[in-house]
Amino acid sequence: MTETYDAIVVGAGSVGVPTAMALAAQGVRTLVIDRHVSPGQGENKHALGGTRATHSVPGKILVCLRSLEIFSTWEETYGDPIDWVKGGYLFPAYGAEEEKVLKEILPVQRQSGLNIDYISPEEVQEILPGIRAEGLRGGSYSPDDGNASPLLAINAFYRRAVAEGAVFHFGERVTAILTRDDRVEGVATERGKYHAPVVIDTAGPFSPSLCANLGEELPILPELHEAGITEPVRPFFKCLVVDLRSGPGSKNDYFCQNNRGQVIFSLAPDPPEIGLNKRSTSSFLPLVSARMVDMMPRLKNLRVRRTWRGIYPVSPDGAPIVGWDQKVEGLLHATAMCGQGFMLGPGMGELLSRMVTGKTTERDAVILKEFSPRRRFESHEALK
Ligand SMILES: Cc1cc2nc3c(=O)[nH]c(=O)nc-3n(C[C@H](O)[C@H](O)[C@H](O)COP(=O)(O)OP(=O)(O)OC[C@H]3O[C@@H](n4cnc5c(N)ncnc54)[C@H](O)[C@@H]3O)c2cc1C
Repeated sequence: MTETYDAIVVGAGSVGVPTAMALAAQGVRTLVIDRHVSPGQGENKHALGGTRATHSVPGKILVCLRSLEIFSTWEETYGDPIDWVKGGYLFPAYGAEEEKVLKEILPVQRQSGLNIDYISPEEVQEILPGIRAEGLRGGSYSPDDGNASPLLAINAFYRRAVAEGAVFHFGERVTAILTRDDRVEGVATERGKYHAPVVIDTAGPFSPSLCANLGEELPILPELHEAGITEPVRPFFKCLVVDLRSGPGSKNDYFCQNNRGQVIFSLAPDPPEIGLNKRSTSSFLPLVSARMVDMMPRLKNLRVRRTWRGIYPVSPDGAPIVGWDQKVEGLLHATAMCGQGFMLGPGMGELLSRMVTGKTTERDAVILKEFSPRRRFESHEALK
């Protein structure tokens, strides 16, 4: 007998799991299918866990403000630890250009409800003791941002989704989205067929192949990014630091100390590396450590435990693609998280649940316009 649901979510990742949690909480009978054996085994587990509402465009700010509320109150509400650290995000500026960009976006950030300020070099040094003072021109600081453990968080969301009644099928690959007369009917997997009037594509880098049988072309490229983690040491800073200076081979880097004392770090390669090869490289560690030690010399004393490589599915303008499919009724895309899917996930899950139940708000309309699959992809996100 074919199983029937109200909604099927393809992908138990950073977006799919909180979406299932939000849908099930609204009484929507939800099935989640993932080809991996447990939640978060796609790109979620590659994330550092940085969670910020500090973006340059309103839609992302609004979604992430809601995510931050969920992350920061999770443990007291549900009891599961997710290693949340409220340390803020710090964007130090050494060049006039970075200072200008950071100051120019303050009005839109504040109008969208973000708690942020441009602070003096002395204040930056207080927040990040040991930062190189020479040439420092201050920076922007948003104290309510933070970081959390991607694996602890997704498992906490997964348990909550199951408690609300969502059904999960792991180790099962969706091979086709089933349609009739341009309407979704469900999905086919290697094991069988499942029916639902709504299918949500949260397949991350695999959204283009998932939707290929429908002729829908999603403008997403798989960009490879590496990260690393050190041994644990006594806490010596709390904020997540983003170094916006570009250099040979890299566009920017970012790092934080998690609540177990380990420093986690990543870098944006320049030019971007496109592909699906997740083997880590020998060039990443020398490049990122030179950058980090230049900004914060005391980091040279840390020993690195391991590095890894994952994929950012990116859209041409650096914003997610979220909205109902242009050709197939009932197909909802929530993909191309552009390296920010962990922080967007919980807020995005609630937004998607409102779309499915027809309860979107005026605030949602602002977000959905920015993330529309039908937009021209011409704008530019300053903090990408
Ligand atoms: C090095 C690195 C550092 C990062 N740091 C951060 C950070 O600090 N903060 C942040 O917010 N983000 C960060 N990210 C980005 C974050 O990891 C991703 O944006 C996020 O995980 C994407 O979520 P998603 O749900 O779209 O995809 P995923 O989490 O990858 O989930 C997609 C799921 O779909 C499943 N799937 C795909 N196709 C099928 C199919 N046909 N059938 C069944 N299942 C399928 C996959 O198995 C996968 O589990 C980082 C990424 C990398 C690589």
